[in-house]
Amino acid sequence: MNIRILGTGSGMPSKALNCSSILVQSQNKTYLLDAGEGISKMFLQLDLAPDDLDAIMISHYHPDHIGGLFLLIQMLYLAKREQPLHLFLPEREQDFLAILTMFYTFPEKFGFQLQIHPLSQVSEFFPDVIAQINDHLHGYREIISKNALKNEMKAYSIRINSPKGAFVYSSDISTTDSIRELVDGAHTVVVDAGHPPAEQIIQLEDFGIRRVLLTHEPSPELRQLLQENPRPSFEHAIEGVLYNI
Ligand SMILES: [Zn+2]
Repeated sequence: MNIRILGTGSGMPSKALNCSSILVQSQNKTYLLDAGEGISKMFLQLDLAPDDLDAIMISHYHPDHIGGLFLLIQMLYLAKREQPLHLFLPEREQDFLAILTMFYTFPEKFGFQLQIHPLSQVSEFFPDVIAQINDHLHGYREIISKNALKNEMKAYSIRINSPKGAFVYSSDISTTDSIRELVDGAHTVVVDAGHPPAEQIIQLEDFGIRRVLLTHEPSPELRQLLQENPRPSFEHAIEGVLYNI
């Protein structure tokens, strides 16, 4: 399995970093996990062809995880993609289609079939992929219920299994509690090092993970903990670098 992290930045834009996006090639499939701003440029820099992607999976609807998706879809359309594209969304698939229409990117004009599914069903299409709900958006409960909004607070973490080992992308999480089962025995985990308490991230070393890649600009507390007591299995995720399992 090849894992290339295309964006490691957080919700606050930075001069040097793209927003969240990871390209995974495993067992003859190519998956894009999240599509933050900068993804189309990275796609071109890697010389990917318009038909290379098998599926795009969006973990949740924060702008730094989906902000690049509309331009990516437009690029695939203009570059004359032909293969069907599976797009897995965390919630509200019909509203997403309405946004595409609002942006004058009409799926019926595409030369490829855009097949939109709930991310919860990803294993039915790609049995090596597991998507599991996490706790990242639960803090919005009050504002959503007060205003009777349609937001479903669905945010996912994603695991991809392969014969050589498993890869997990936590995406954004509030605590590591909701990914404990998902990361168990995984070879490589890309973990949100900005939101969960630093002590919880350090505890990931108890789950037999070979490599923990820290993304989303680690908190000052985590940086200090790792400086005082370096762990060989913990690394800072670097954009563009190819990680193998
Ligand atoms: Zn988020």
